[in-house]
Amino acid sequence: ATKFDINKIREEFPILHQDIQGKPLIYFDNAATTQKPKSVIDALSNYYLKINSNVHRGAHTLAERATEAFEQTRKAAQQFINSPSEEQVIFTRGTTESINLVAQSYGRTFLKEGDEIIISSLEHHSNIVPWQIVAAQTGAKIKVIPIFDNGELDMEAYQNLLSEKTKIVAVVHVSNSLGTINPVKEIIKKAHQVGAKVLIDGAQASSHLEIDVQDLDVDFYAMSGHKVYAPTGIGILYGKKELLEAMPPYMGGGEMIKEVDFDVSTYNVLPYKFEAGTPNIADTVALRLAFEFVNDLTKKEIIAHEQVLLEYGTQQLSSINGLHIIGTAKEKASVISFVVDGVHPYDMGLMLDANGIAIRTGHHCTQPLMKRLNLEGTARASFALYNTKEEIDTFAETLEMVIERLK
Ligand code: PMP
Repeated sequence: ATKFDINKIREEFPILHQDIQGKPLIYFDNAATTQKPKSVIDALSNYYLKINSNVHRGAHTLAERATEAFEQTRKAAQQFINSPSEEQVIFTRGTTESINLVAQSYGRTFLKEGDEIIISSLEHHSNIVPWQIVAAQTGAKIKVIPIFDNGELDMEAYQNLLSEKTKIVAVVHVSNSLGTINPVKEIIKKAHQVGAKVLIDGAQASSHLEIDVQDLDVDFYAMSGHKVYAPTGIGILYGKKELLEAMPPYMGGGEMIKEVDFDVSTYNVLPYKFEAGTPNIADTVALRLAFEFVNDLTKKEIIAHEQVLLEYGTQQLSSINGLHIIGTAKEKASVISFVVDGVHPYDMGLMLDANGIAIRTGHHCTQPLMKRLNLEGTARASFALYNTKEEIDTFAETLEMVIERLK
């Protein structure tokens, strides 16, 4: 029997059961961040009530317990993305830090003048700006894979951009703005044929897709805990071992060293070489509970549920007069971006909020994508495992009323 009982699932998310502006909350801003189940919230308070201590150093019982809880999450993370080992899982603050780490450690060391970095038109600012910074430092150039109007990557154009000059390809797995699921396995294979390394931005993929870094044969994979029902401030960078070993540290400090002298210091082994300073222990401990929550329901059931919501939501919104869905890729995660003729997305967002409905409006940290689509921004509804068809019904009805008023 399936564990996917939506009423039971919703009970695990206390935040959902409240009125906003006098109406029951409908939370459709999951691409920005997801809500947290009780088990994750309890893990945080339990950590501070009973375990709190610094990790990897104390001789006492609490330090040992804190270290064990912290390292248990690394094991869970290793399994969540099917990394071949735990030492290839580095804890960061999130996707942004993971990408900056690769750009500044790998990129800054190995890129040189005339080398090329390929990104795509779909990228979040956090997979654009770090590459611009390292390009300015090294003289490397950035090339951009174009998209078709439906939000799919132009794979032929990608093939034509690849050459022996290509050193890094950095592409988003699932677009946060349009929901497009990119053919990353093919992207990686093609990059490897010219000897380039690939970083995949998995910020949105982690909650909507099965992640298998070995099957993808990806060089670096970045993700954020808070997009997959865990707290903010904790994320993951996966890397191939030989690459991580060849890379210099990203930050210097405690934890990341073997021995320090005033002349020269030696560095710790993986993954600690990249984890300078006291880490975000409590949130890391809680991340394991988020992985367990997802594993328990199974990704398969979650994906099936979200695909039903995506299809239903697309159908309901499409029937609204003057509404255009932006991003109609064949392979899509549960994100619906839309615009309405003669109505500003921000005004829609405000009036939906007045009815208890949370969506996001604007450029979604993808300004170059909005420019490519000739849009200032969109309204975006994004669904998670706890959302329902009934919520979509209320959303669609309310949206129609809002549009009527704003027109
Ligand atoms: N990439 C994508 C596709 C995202 O959706 C996000 C978060 N909106 C990020 C990167 C950045 O993630 P974070 O802010 O958690 O570092």
